[in-house]
Amino acid sequence: MSILVVGSVAFDTLKTPFGERTKILGGAATYFSLSASYFTQVRVVGVVGEDFTAEHEAVLTSRGIDVRGIERASGSTFHWGGEYGENVNEAQTKFTDLNVFENFVPKIPDAYEDSKYLFLANIQPELQLDVRRKMPRVALVGGDTMNLWIDIKRSELLETLQQVDILLINDGEAKLLASDHSLVRSAKKILTMGPRALVIKHGEYGATIFFGDGSHPFRAPALPIAEVHDPTGAGDTFAGGFMGYIASQPKLTPSVLKSAMFYGGVMASFTVERFGTERLHALTREEIDERFQLFRSLTHLD
Ligand code: AMP
Repeated sequence: MSILVVGSVAFDTLKTPFGERTKILGGAATYFSLSASYFTQVRVVGVVGEDFTAEHEAVLTSRGIDVRGIERASGSTFHWGGEYGENVNEAQTKFTDLNVFENFVPKIPDAYEDSKYLFLANIQPELQLDVRRKMPRVALVGGDTMNLWIDIKRSELLETLQQVDILLINDGEAKLLASDHSLVRSAKKILTMGPRALVIKHGEYGATIFFGDGSHPFRAPALPIAEVHDPTGAGDTFAGGFMGYIASQPKLTPSVLKSAMFYGGVMASFTVERFGTERLHALTREEIDERFQLFRSLTHLD
């Protein structure tokens, strides 16, 4: 079943303890769609500039991703600069050049209207809401956000959250959104803001899903990796594996949700092994399933 994702398709300039890269392919929608493409059909809505080449596009199309919704505008592609120190869980933003993103108004191709799943990657909450409203028939909506919008667009974000079924954010964002230093209390508060389920990502320590109906939370591990070369996109890759797996299943059951938490972690563990999207270009389903078993063996007693 198809997933529509709206979000940034970007160039990233990155520095980590393992090296530096300039203007490599990145963006939340890029990581999400590459990751989800291993499970289901993905359609992207976004915008790029004149510097976005056929080779960049081929990274997506060679994974079967539908890019008809990526608009080409005059100007430069969104460009993000990020740096990581010893703490790989925390990116320091060096610059954010919005470029063509500044005047982005999402347009949804007619051919995308029957998408069953929608993922609102991290963009301005008003744009997320706009896309959500243009897709009234979707069965399930996932969403992400970031500190910036929690700080400067809080009321718009709260309106958008009313329309999101599953919110995926990290520990820091959850505490900021709930204005609380306890993670569990934060989760409870966020679950009164609209989402039926909340996935809180703990970086290298895994992720926990909390439910609005009071059922027990479930935690999935992250793979202990000695050398995280580049954590950029780990969150979006997690979301792609998580939503992609859900979309590949006939019904959303508690057990599907738990496996989706594992697949999210599996996909993110690949991303961080290399710079940028490199590791997501040519995985095989066997590699993915092998790693899924590794994740199982981390937490299962037998
Ligand atoms: P993550 O590491 O999963 O949080 O996401 C990293 C990706 O988010 C990078 O590839 C960036 O291009 C993208 N990104 C960074 N800042 C923004 C922003 N303000 N709006 C949209 N995308 C962004």
